[in-house]
Order: sequence, then C-alpha cells, then structure tokens
Amino acid sequence: MNKFALVTGGSRGIGREICLKLASMGYPVIINFASNKAAAEEVAKIIMDDGGVAEMLQFDVSDQKAVDETLDQWEAAHPDDYVEVLVNNAGIRRDNVMFMMADEEWHQVLDTTLNGFFYLTRRLLKHMMPRKRGGRIINVASLSGLKGMPGQTNYSAAKAGLIGATKALAQEVAPRNVTVNAVAPGFIETDMTKDLPQDELKKLVPMQRFGKPQEVAAAVAFLASPDASYITGEVININGGLYT
Ligand code: NAP
Repeated sequence: MNKFALVTGGSRGIGREICLKLASMGYPVIINFASNKAAAEEVAKIIMDDGGVAEMLQFDVSDQKAVDETLDQWEAAHPDDYVEVLVNNAGIRRDNVMFMMADEEWHQVLDTTLNGFFYLTRRLLKHMMPRKRGGRIINVASLSGLKGMPGQTNYSAAKAGLIGATKALAQEVAPRNVTVNAVAPGFIETDMTKDLPQDELKKLVPMQRFGKPQEVAAAVAFLASPDASYITGEVININGGLYT
C-alpha cells in the first residue's frame, strides 16, 4: 500500500513548495491544480527527476462533483493506496472594500477556501479513519483569518472559518489517529502577493521582509511528519513577527 500526499493548488507558490518538500520526505505526491497545467507539470518533473513519484489531478476544489468524480477515478486506479496527508492549500484573493464588494467576490473566495476544504476533507477522511489507519490534514489559513485585514472581509472570513473548522475537526477525529492543523502565513512572496506594494508592507514586518514559500512548506512538512504526532487543532503563525 502506498500512502500518498495530496496538495490542493500544488502547481504554484506555497503549494508547489509543499509538494516538493513532501516528495523529499518520500511521499508520493498528488499535485492538484485548477487550470495551470504547465506549472503542475513542472512540479511533477522536478519530483520525478529526483526519483520521486508525482501525479497530477486537475479539478476545481469548489466543485463538489468534480472533486468526487476525480477522486473516484483515482481510487479506482489505485485500489491498494490511500491519501494519508491532505494539504488544503488552494486559495484565492478577491479584495475589495465591503460596501463595494460584488456577490462573486464574496462567494468565490468562500467557495474556494471553505467549500474546497469541506469537499476534499469529507471525501478523504473516510479512508483515514477506518481501523485507526490515521492521517494528517493540514489547512493553509492566513494571518487575515486571525487578525482580520481591511479590504479582505471575504478572505478574512474564509480563513477564520477554516481555522474554526480545523479546531472542531481535530477534536472529532483525534480518536481515529487523524490530526488536523493549520498554518497561518503572513506576507509570502508568490503570485498572490505580487501586486502588493512590498517595499511599504515589509516595513510593517519585524523581520523586514516577506516570507518565502519554502518557509511555509517547512512547517507543513513538520505537521505531516511523525514528529508532530501529538499536535492537533493547532495554528502555526509564519509571519516574521507581524502578529503574535
Ligand atoms: P498562488 O501563488 O496564487 O497559487 C494558488 C494556487 O491555488 C495555484 O496552484 C492555483 O492553481 C490553485 N488554485 C486556485 N484556485 C483553485 C481552485 N478553485 N481549485 C484548485 N486549485 C486552485 O497562491 P499562494 O500565495 O501560493 O497561496 C497558497 C495558499 O496560501 C492560499 O490558500 C492562500 O490564501 C494562502 N496564503 C498565502 C499568503 C501569501 O502571502 N502568499 C499568505 C497567507 C495565506 P493554478 O496554478 O491552476 O491556477
């Protein structure tokens, strides 16, 4: 039996580095992506060139039918394998001040973060729980979900909801040997933050710089590792001291 790691939004940014790190720990990795196939292929190639195992699965995490159909197909092709580590990383920003916010800006952000978490986690938990087989669920939340960020009521609500779900589910599935944790990054250098005024924002960070995706991936890898076996319901800040 092979124990896989599935990373949603594994094609770019933080998810990409999480895929590479988990592969370096020996996990066969499933790289999920929404549309950017070339980027996902690049991640898969790096892993395979290094002797690892990588597969790609394209689906929109907020589309329940697509999630279930794709995972049904994967399971049919892998009757003896299961996903032991699920990293709910896929996320989007649609920033706007509240009084101007369009319905789609609100719903797209919540659908991706919260519905995505729900559809993937519900679907994969059923293979982690039987006979206390065990599993690791790691949710990529955000500083915005803890502190709240102006111009991001949608994103802050989604990430705060994800943190609440992390804490509730952790208690629910702990007896089955499944841990559920979150990381809460601050400003990290990825496509998601490339339109932000980095020179101004980094002055707000005690470490005076944005974080690197690898610095988030390291914490996710720790939570997936045997060393983190008694940690559950936890949220790890990765923000250079911006908010504690
Ligand atoms: P990014 O560079 O914009 O990459 C986003 C990734 O998510 C891509 O792989 C994208 O796939 C995928 N994705 C987007 N919507 C999806 C959907 N509906 N279904 C499946 N995949 C989807 O973002 P990032 O900065 O790495 O952010 C990753 C996570 O960290 C997000 O949850 C984000 O909220 C969180 N975060 C980021 C920061 C930061 O400063 N960057 C801070 C705190 C938290 P495609 O390549 O196919 O488009």
